Amino acid sequence: MPTNITLVRGDITEQDVDAVVNAANTSLLGGGGVDGAIHRKGGPAVLDECRRLRAGHYGRGLPTGQAVATTAGRLAARWVIHTVGPVYRDSGGDPALLSSCFLESLRVADELGARTVAFPAVSTGAYGWPVADAARIAVEAVRGADTAVEEVRFVLFDEGAYAAFAAQID
Ligand code: ADP
Repeated sequence: MPTNITLVRGDITEQDVDAVVNAANTSLLGGGGVDGAIHRKGGPAVLDECRRLRAGHYGRGLPTGQAVATTAGRLAARWVIHTVGPVYRDSGGDPALLSSCFLESLRVADELGARTVAFPAVSTGAYGWPVADAARIAVEAVRGADTAVEEVRFVLFDEGAYAAFAAQID
Protein backbone atom coordinates (compact mmCIF):
# COMPACT_ATOMS: atom_id res chain seq x y z
CA MET A 1 0.00 0.00 0.00
CA PRO A 2 1.49 3.41 -0.87
CA THR A 3 2.21 5.74 1.99
CA ASN A 4 -0.43 8.40 2.47
CA ILE A 5 1.14 11.85 2.75
CA THR A 6 -0.80 14.40 4.79
CA LEU A 7 -0.07 18.00 5.77
CA VAL A 8 -1.05 19.91 8.85
CA ARG A 9 -0.14 23.32 10.11
CA GLY A 10 0.75 22.98 13.78
CA ASP A 11 3.12 21.83 16.46
CA ILE A 12 4.97 18.53 16.07
CA THR A 13 4.79 17.88 19.82
CA GLU A 14 0.99 17.71 19.71
CA GLN A 15 0.66 15.02 17.07
CA ASP A 16 -1.13 11.84 17.98
CA VAL A 17 0.99 9.50 15.87
CA ASP A 18 3.15 6.46 16.58
CA ALA A 19 6.39 8.39 16.09
CA VAL A 20 7.39 12.02 15.80
CA VAL A 21 10.64 12.94 14.11
CA ASN A 22 12.95 15.37 15.83
CA ALA A 23 15.09 17.82 13.85
CA ALA A 24 17.94 17.07 16.24
CA ASN A 25 21.59 18.03 16.18
CA THR A 26 24.61 15.74 16.30
CA SER A 27 24.95 16.05 20.08
CA LEU A 28 21.50 14.49 20.64
CA LEU A 29 21.41 16.55 23.81
CA GLY A 30 18.84 19.13 22.83
CA GLY A 31 18.77 22.47 21.08
CA GLY A 32 16.31 25.06 19.82
CA GLY A 33 13.34 24.88 17.47
CA VAL A 34 11.74 21.45 17.16
CA ASP A 35 14.43 19.88 19.33
CA GLY A 36 13.79 22.25 22.23
CA ALA A 37 10.03 21.80 21.96
CA ILE A 38 10.26 17.99 21.95
CA HIS A 39 12.56 17.89 24.97
CA ARG A 40 10.48 20.44 26.89
CA LYS A 41 7.24 18.60 26.34
CA GLY A 42 8.60 15.02 26.26
CA GLY A 43 10.36 15.57 29.57
CA PRO A 44 13.50 14.05 31.10
CA ALA A 45 12.90 10.50 29.86
CA VAL A 46 13.77 11.57 26.32
CA LEU A 47 16.98 13.29 27.35
CA ASP A 48 17.97 10.37 29.59
CA GLU A 49 17.71 8.01 26.67
CA CYS A 50 19.63 10.39 24.43
CA ARG A 51 22.38 10.50 27.05
CA ARG A 52 22.49 6.71 27.10
CA LEU A 53 22.87 6.67 23.32
CA ARG A 54 25.78 9.10 23.64
CA ALA A 55 27.36 6.91 26.29
CA GLY A 56 27.00 3.87 24.05
CA HIS A 57 26.81 3.45 20.30
CA TYR A 58 26.78 7.17 19.46
CA GLY A 59 29.77 8.32 21.47
CA ARG A 60 30.58 10.89 18.80
CA GLY A 61 26.96 11.87 18.34
CA LEU A 62 24.49 11.07 15.60
CA PRO A 63 25.92 11.74 12.14
CA THR A 64 24.07 14.01 9.71
CA GLY A 65 21.51 12.11 7.64
CA GLN A 66 21.10 9.26 10.13
CA ALA A 67 18.25 8.50 12.54
CA VAL A 68 17.79 6.82 15.91
CA ALA A 69 14.74 6.27 18.13
CA THR A 70 14.07 6.92 21.80
CA THR A 71 11.00 6.88 23.98
CA ALA A 72 8.71 9.89 23.59
CA GLY A 73 8.31 10.46 27.34
CA ARG A 74 5.20 12.52 27.99
CA LEU A 75 4.35 13.12 24.34
CA ALA A 76 1.28 11.44 22.89
CA ALA A 77 3.51 9.65 20.41
CA ARG A 78 5.16 6.40 21.42
CA TRP A 79 8.59 7.16 20.00
CA VAL A 80 10.77 10.06 18.98
CA ILE A 81 12.94 9.39 15.96
CA HIS A 82 15.88 11.78 16.08
CA THR A 83 17.48 12.74 12.80
CA VAL A 84 20.16 15.31 12.04
CA GLY A 85 19.52 17.47 9.02
CA PRO A 86 22.34 19.00 7.01
CA VAL A 87 23.25 22.66 7.45
CA TYR A 88 22.42 24.23 4.09
CA ARG A 89 25.56 26.29 3.64
CA ASP A 90 27.81 23.34 4.55
CA SER A 91 26.02 20.92 2.24
CA GLY A 92 26.14 23.12 -0.84
CA GLY A 93 22.48 22.31 -1.34
CA ASP A 94 23.22 18.65 -2.15
CA PRO A 95 19.91 16.88 -1.54
CA ALA A 96 21.45 13.51 -0.56
CA LEU A 97 21.82 14.05 3.18
CA LEU A 98 18.48 15.79 3.55
CA SER A 99 16.79 13.00 1.64
CA SER A 100 18.60 10.50 3.85
CA CYS A 101 17.01 12.02 6.97
CA PHE A 102 13.57 11.04 5.70
CA LEU A 103 14.60 7.63 4.38
CA GLU A 104 16.54 6.69 7.51
CA SER A 105 13.74 7.90 9.78
CA LEU A 106 11.28 5.72 7.86
CA ARG A 107 13.66 2.77 8.09
CA VAL A 108 13.81 3.21 11.87
CA ALA A 109 10.00 3.58 11.93
CA ASP A 110 9.70 0.25 10.13
CA GLU A 111 12.03 -1.39 12.64
CA LEU A 112 9.83 -0.08 15.46
CA GLY A 113 6.60 -1.08 13.75
CA ALA A 114 5.39 2.53 13.64
CA ARG A 115 2.58 3.04 11.13
CA THR A 116 2.02 6.79 11.49
CA VAL A 117 4.97 9.17 11.51
CA ALA A 118 5.02 12.97 11.79
CA PHE A 119 7.93 14.94 10.34
CA PRO A 120 8.82 18.59 10.76
CA ALA A 121 10.43 20.54 7.91
CA VAL A 122 13.91 19.25 8.79
CA SER A 123 16.80 21.71 8.15
CA THR A 124 14.55 24.66 7.28
CA GLY A 125 14.98 26.50 10.59
CA ALA A 126 18.36 27.11 12.18
CA TYR A 127 20.01 25.02 9.47
CA GLY A 128 18.88 27.43 6.77
CA TRP A 129 17.61 25.20 3.96
CA PRO A 130 15.26 27.14 1.63
CA VAL A 131 11.84 25.72 2.40
CA ALA A 132 10.59 25.27 -1.18
CA ASP A 133 13.62 23.14 -2.03
CA ALA A 134 13.44 21.25 1.27
CA ALA A 135 9.77 20.48 0.65
CA ARG A 136 10.53 19.04 -2.79
CA ILE A 137 13.33 16.86 -1.40
CA ALA A 138 11.21 15.69 1.54
CA VAL A 139 8.18 14.75 -0.53
CA GLU A 140 10.27 13.02 -3.19
CA ALA A 141 12.10 11.01 -0.53
CA VAL A 142 8.87 9.85 1.10
CA ARG A 143 7.24 9.03 -2.23
CA GLY A 144 10.24 6.94 -3.20
CA ALA A 145 10.59 5.14 0.13
CA ASP A 146 10.03 1.42 0.45
CA THR A 147 8.24 1.46 3.81
CA ALA A 148 5.32 -0.08 5.68
CA VAL A 149 4.49 3.31 7.21
CA GLU A 150 0.89 4.08 6.30
CA GLU A 151 0.79 7.81 6.99
CA VAL A 152 3.55 10.37 6.80
CA ARG A 153 2.29 13.63 8.22
CA PHE A 154 4.33 16.75 7.55
CA VAL A 155 3.73 19.19 10.39
CA LEU A 156 4.48 22.74 9.35
CA PHE A 157 4.82 25.48 11.87
CA ASP A 158 4.11 28.48 9.68
CA GLU A 159 2.06 29.39 6.65
CA GLY A 160 5.07 29.68 4.32
CA ALA A 161 6.28 26.17 5.09
CA TYR A 162 2.76 24.81 4.78
CA ALA A 163 2.36 26.44 1.34
CA ALA A 164 5.72 25.06 0.19
CA PHE A 165 4.73 21.51 1.11
CA ALA A 166 1.22 21.91 -0.28
CA ALA A 167 2.73 22.92 -3.63
CA GLN A 168 4.53 19.55 -3.75
CA ILE A 169 1.47 17.49 -2.90
CA ASP A 170 -1.11 19.02 -5.24
P1 ADP B 1 16.80 22.61 11.84
O1 ADP B 1 17.88 22.86 12.87
O2 ADP B 1 16.84 21.21 11.27
O3 ADP B 1 16.73 23.67 10.80
P2 ADP B 1 14.59 23.74 13.41
O4 ADP B 1 13.94 23.07 14.58
O5 ADP B 1 15.39 24.96 13.66
O6 ADP B 1 15.45 22.59 12.68
O7 ADP B 1 13.46 24.09 12.34
C1 ADP B 1 12.89 23.17 11.45
C2 ADP B 1 11.51 23.65 11.07
O8 ADP B 1 10.59 23.34 12.10
C3 ADP B 1 11.38 25.16 10.83
O9 ADP B 1 10.58 25.35 9.67
C4 ADP B 1 10.67 25.65 12.09
O10 ADP B 1 9.84 26.79 11.82
C5 ADP B 1 9.80 24.47 12.42
N1 ADP B 1 9.40 24.35 13.84
C6 ADP B 1 9.90 24.94 14.94
N2 ADP B 1 9.26 24.51 16.06
C7 ADP B 1 8.32 23.61 15.64
C8 ADP B 1 7.32 22.82 16.29
N3 ADP B 1 7.15 22.86 17.62
N4 ADP B 1 6.55 22.00 15.52
C9 ADP B 1 6.71 21.93 14.18
N5 ADP B 1 7.62 22.65 13.51
C10 ADP B 1 8.42 23.49 14.23
